[in-house]
Amino acid sequence: MSQVNPTAGRQEYCFATKAIHEGQEPDPSTGALITPIYQTSTFVLEELGKNKGYQYARTHNPTRSALEECLASLENAKYCLASASGLSAAATVINLLSAGDHVIVGEDVYGGVYRLFEKVFSRYGLTFTYIDGKDIDAIERAITPKTKLVWLESPTNPLLRLADLRKVGELTKSRGLIFAVDNTFATPYFQRPIELGADIVIHSTTKYISGHSDIIGGAVVTSNDELYEVLKFHNNAVGAVPGPFDCFLALRGVKTLALRMKEHQSNAFAVARFLEQHPGIEEVYYPGLESHPQYDLAREQMKGFGGVVACVVKGGIEAARDVVSNTKLFQLAESLGGVKSLICHPASMTHAPIPKEVREPLGIVDGLIRLSVGIEESEDLIRDLDAVLPRAKGFSNSNEKQLVGANA
Ligand SMILES: *Cc1c(COP(=O)(O)O)cnc(C)c1O
Repeated sequence: MSQVNPTAGRQEYCFATKAIHEGQEPDPSTGALITPIYQTSTFVLEELGKNKGYQYARTHNPTRSALEECLASLENAKYCLASASGLSAAATVINLLSAGDHVIVGEDVYGGVYRLFEKVFSRYGLTFTYIDGKDIDAIERAITPKTKLVWLESPTNPLLRLADLRKVGELTKSRGLIFAVDNTFATPYFQRPIELGADIVIHSTTKYISGHSDIIGGAVVTSNDELYEVLKFHNNAVGAVPGPFDCFLALRGVKTLALRMKEHQSNAFAVARFLEQHPGIEEVYYPGLESHPQYDLAREQMKGFGGVVACVVKGGIEAARDVVSNTKLFQLAESLGGVKSLICHPASMTHAPIPKEVREPLGIVDGLIRLSVGIEESEDLIRDLDAVLPRAKGFSNSNEKQLVGANA
C-alpha cells in the first residue's frame, strides 16, 4: 500500500465504481475487505532508514491515505489531502500565501470562511476583496499586482448563485493566479471544477461526501504538482489532520455518494416544484428550475443541481419562524448534505452576524428559508412542508387547524 497518490489519468472506472474501489483495495496485511481504522500514532521502522511507507500519523495514516486516494479520483485529480474540517482545508489553501498577498473572494462565501479570512488571516497581513462571483468583470477589476488567489463557491449558500467556472479559470490562468473552488454544495458527482479550470478544490466532507451528519472533515484536491508539495507541507507542518475513525466514516459515506446524490436531487426537484406552485411562497431558488437566472450555466457546467433548495415565505420573519419551528421531518439545524432533511433560517442563524442592511441587498431577506433536502420519501417531505407553509387568505390549512385546536 502506498501513501502517495499516483492517480493521474485515472478515469477508467465510472464515478460510482471509483467511490467504492479507489484507494480501497483489500487490506494487504490481513485481506480485510474494508479499509481498517489504523488507530496508531506511529509506525515501527523495519531498520534505520527503512519503513513501510508510514512513519508518524500526523504525516500519513493508511485509513487517511485511502480516503485521499478515493477523493482525488472522484474529482479526476492527482492529489488530495484530508483535513480536520472544511475550514482547516480552507486554511491550508491560504497557507500558500504570504503577508501582503491579496485574495479575491465571492461575496456570499460560507460564513465560516469569511470569518477565517477577516478575523484570522487579515491579521497576518493578507487582504481580501469580496465580489459578486457571477460577475467576471468584477473579478477582473478586483485584480491588483498583489493578487495571488481567487476563491469562489458555486453554487453559493444560501441563494444558489453560480460562478462561470470555465471563464474564471481562463481569466486566472491568463493572469497567473491560483483559482480555488469550494465544491462542497455540488460534490464531484455533479461538478468537477478542476476539469473546468480550477487549480484547487476544497470540500467540507462534513456535508455530502460523508453524508450522514456524523463527522467534521475537510479535503484539499489538486492536480498541480508544485501546489501539492506546498499544500502537503503545510498540512503536516500545521497539523490539522483528521483522525483515522473520521476518515473511516468519510470513506464509508462516500461509497454511496452517487446513490445519495441522485436521490437528494430527485427529492430537491420535487420539493422545489411543490414550493414553486405554493401560494404561500414568494420565490424559490434551485439551479435546476428553469426560473433560475443561471439555469443554462448550471446545465452547462454541472451534471446535476444538488440537494439544497431555498425559498422566501410570504409574511416575513414571523411566517418564516413559524415554518422552521413546526416541520416534523425537516429538523431545525445548521449544516447540510446528510441523509436527514434539515431546515434553517439564514437571517437569524447562519447569517445573523451580518447586519440587515448588508444581508438584504444580497437576497438574505427575513422570509428566506434554506432546505437541505434529505433522502427520505419525497411524498413525506412535501407533506411535512405543506402542513406548515402559510396559505393565501381564504385557504384553510392543517397548521391553522392545529393552532386552533391548541388554543381551544
Ligand atoms: C460547512 C462548509 C464549510 C466549512 O466546513 P466545516 O467542515 O464545517 O469546517 C465550508 N464551505 C462550505 C460551502 C460549507 O458548507
